[in-house]
Amino acid sequence: MMPEPSREELRRWDRYHVWHPFTQMAEYEPLIIERAEGCVLVDVDGKRYIDGVSSLWCNVHGHRHPRLDAAIGEQLQRVAHVTALGASNPTTIKLARRLVELAPPGLEHVFFSDDGATAVEVALKMAFQYWRQRPEPRPEKTLYLTLEDAYHGDTLGGVSVGGVSRFHDMFRPLLFRCLRVPSPNPYRTPRGVPRQRALDHYLAQVERVLAEHHAQIAAMVLEPLVQAAAGMIVHPPGYLRGVRELTRRYDVLLVADEVAVGMGRTGRMFACQHEQVSPDFLCLAKGLTGGYLPLAATLTTHEIWQAFLGDYAESKTFFHGHTYTGNPLGAAVALASLDVFQQERTLENLPPKIARLRQHLERIARLPGVGDVRQRGLIAGIELVRDKATKEPFPWEEKRGIRVCQYARTEGVLLRPLGNVIVIMPPLAISVAQLDQIAGAVQRGIAEATRE
Ligand SMILES: *Cc1c(COP(=O)(O)O)cnc(C)c1O
Repeated sequence: MMPEPSREELRRWDRYHVWHPFTQMAEYEPLIIERAEGCVLVDVDGKRYIDGVSSLWCNVHGHRHPRLDAAIGEQLQRVAHVTALGASNPTTIKLARRLVELAPPGLEHVFFSDDGATAVEVALKMAFQYWRQRPEPRPEKTLYLTLEDAYHGDTLGGVSVGGVSRFHDMFRPLLFRCLRVPSPNPYRTPRGVPRQRALDHYLAQVERVLAEHHAQIAAMVLEPLVQAAAGMIVHPPGYLRGVRELTRRYDVLLVADEVAVGMGRTGRMFACQHEQVSPDFLCLAKGLTGGYLPLAATLTTHEIWQAFLGDYAESKTFFHGHTYTGNPLGAAVALASLDVFQQERTLENLPPKIARLRQHLERIARLPGVGDVRQRGLIAGIELVRDKATKEPFPWEEKRGIRVCQYARTEGVLLRPLGNVIVIMPPLAISVAQLDQIAGAVQRGIAEATRE
């Protein structure tokens, strides 16, 4: 056995051996979380931090929740993993059934994978294959319509339908082509389009592209209600519903990527339910296991599923899978998380927290340096700007968002910004007192980081 490394060794090894995602390793200062209690993380020095971004948007009921911990232990008494390729296990089956019961009507079949990116890849490939195999094939439908600034994960399919130029532009030569319409961003409408007309303006753009290109478009892909990685852009109410009506009218499939917004984050279990929308594909990951284990699901309709049925020799099979697809440990904790939603009335308890967050945001909105605050449920974004009147952004190199979060850390609040946007996205189990602490740290951090 190796002796336990010292904290200094851990820091050194972390900096050198562990290559962290979305992290400039030349500047990386290790933050090593050793344990957690509820919504509080504890680092190797014993310093405590409120988990203000749900460990990157995935934790739901807090860490070390007794029921979730127990669910994994109980599954371990049976089996940790069996393949889903031509085989199954009771836990995964039960989870599929529960998800179908909870999801918007019409989504009856569940394809499991491991991450948000794979959930989206599955939907993209299924949509493509569906048009080739359905009773009246339309193999010319090979394009995807996406939003500018979209984020759907970091595999090449997800990057192809993505549009965050700082992350994605470099890889353009490797990607398939997509059609794009602007993000329906009510804060940054084009000149001459006031906020109140944002909905009509942005839907008209979708309609224009669909009218011209629908014969080649397999599917439209979007994050319903909130474009998270784009900077928590909150769409105008009615946009999702409008997109669903347009995609129906033009015979284009709709992929709803609820990887970030699903599992209660917006105040309802699924974002699509706010606008009574049933997509053709619903992608889930992040919060699906309560933030415990990697597990993802792509739900789809009976019509899509049927196009993949046939004799073995017809090769209509969906030739796609991941080794850990439908992993029973992940399924067990996902089922337990859905139980906790019921037992703790998680969604019913959200409105006072959402209202408290709104009050804080209204106050923060008045600070110099804050251009916009936006919120949907327990998701909030605070956009810092150099000039409130012209909305001129701070140059990203000035790291204003990072500086706010560095300050918040000194007050024991852990956050991660998206450029100039401060994100507040705590576990649904957060207390009002903890929300107050987060908002206080953010407010003081903004004052500190936008001075001069
Ligand atoms: C995080 C995210 C993904 C990617 O999920 P991973 O689990 O990181 O692969 C996809 N879509 C959206 C909307 C996300 O927020």
